[in-house]
Amino acid sequence: MATALYGLLGWPVGHSVSPPMMMAAFAAAEMDGVYLPFAVHPDRIADAVRGLQALGAVGVNVTIPHKQSVYALTTDATAEATLAKAVNCLAFRSDGGISGHNTDVLGWWSAVAPMVGKVPPKQVTLLGAGGAARAVVTALALNHPETRLLLVARNPEQALALAKEFADSLHTDVASWEERHEAVNRAEWVVNSTPIGMSPNVSACPLADAGCLHPGQFVQDLIYRPSPTRLLAMAAERGCIVQDGLPMLVGQGAAAFHWWTGMDAPVDAMQRAAYTALQLG
Ligand code: NAP
Repeated sequence: MATALYGLLGWPVGHSVSPPMMMAAFAAAEMDGVYLPFAVHPDRIADAVRGLQALGAVGVNVTIPHKQSVYALTTDATAEATLAKAVNCLAFRSDGGISGHNTDVLGWWSAVAPMVGKVPPKQVTLLGAGGAARAVVTALALNHPETRLLLVARNPEQALALAKEFADSLHTDVASWEERHEAVNRAEWVVNSTPIGMSPNVSACPLADAGCLHPGQFVQDLIYRPSPTRLLAMAAERGCIVQDGLPMLVGQGAAAFHWWTGMDAPVDAMQRAAYTALQLG
């Protein structure tokens, strides 16, 4: 039997942790598979998807900036992808169909689910309203629709558009970037989905001071390079429960592995490989 072909389409894809993480998964599962990164210009994304389908690839991940444009190429989609109107995972079917899934949604939920405990949060504040925020909003709408979400973005039109899109499935308010400290103070959970503080700009922080954070609050930064970010270091010092972006990253990869193969993902091996790749990268 031929080696099963998988890959990642992005622009750029140079520093992605997904190839070593997925190769580790295949090795741990004793699967004959290969997972390759492909840098694909946005103008060529449809050609690249159809080309991989013609080559007999089993599935691919798609990342920035293709997640929304590739949704239009799917012939069917999971509930997560349909609600998000974005995909990060495609499966090529033997009947010629292209199925779309959004495992960022599952990855985020699997990362935070252990934090839900017996008392789910009533108020979540989300900083940023881009692609990762879309996954967070979708996961809340599907898994915890009684949450009140406060979206804080520097571009109010972007935040209002996202809130409007989910108006039927999640109660979402919008606050301005200037109001972010007050918004953070009100929340039980705070999620940073902006790239502020991401390597190489490690001294940057979405908050100007730590006074709005309080002990016991859950603060998650979707950034995984560096860890901790300045935000998480500040939050830990204030007695918050903190989480970096690695559990979400591994969670989305594990969900993709399961969707493609039907097997339980070897999560420990994937986490070790992702962690090692981040240390090296
Ligand atoms: P994106 O689509 O570009 O969205 C970024 C959001 O942050 C936008 O709302 C953007 O506003 C806002 N933003 C950017 N710079 C800002 C600044 N200086 N001040 C205020 N707002 C700012 O990017 P994304 O795909 O959502 O990714 C965001 C972060 O999440 C990245 O660090 C990425 O690595 C991380 N991420 C992690 C995972 C994981 O598995 N852990 C998965 C996906 C993403 P504008 O539109 O106005 O620029």
